[in-house]
Amino acid sequence: MSETEVKEKEKPVKLEKVAEDTGELVGKGLRKAWSVTKSFGKGLVDTIDKKEEPKDNKACPHCSASVSSDSNFCASCGKKLVEK
Ligand SMILES: [Zn+2]
Repeated sequence: MSETEVKEKEKPVKLEKVAEDTGELVGKGLRKAWSVTKSFGKGLVDTIDKKEEPKDNKACPHCSASVSSDSNFCASCGKKLVEK
């Protein structure tokens, strides 16, 4: 009986400690991952901003989607963009 008592007392303590350590590690990892994601997202937005300038866009005659003026095909409907 005394063995079971010890085991039952030890188990929650160990689990708690593991959870604490894991939570700390996950918290640290998440914070690190978040800052990486944040800078990556910022770079992505910067790239999109530079790529898609309003003056380079035109409306697709078939589906009215905004497409780049130097592309020959609509990225939305896939039809050829004919310009007069
Ligand atoms: Zn289209």
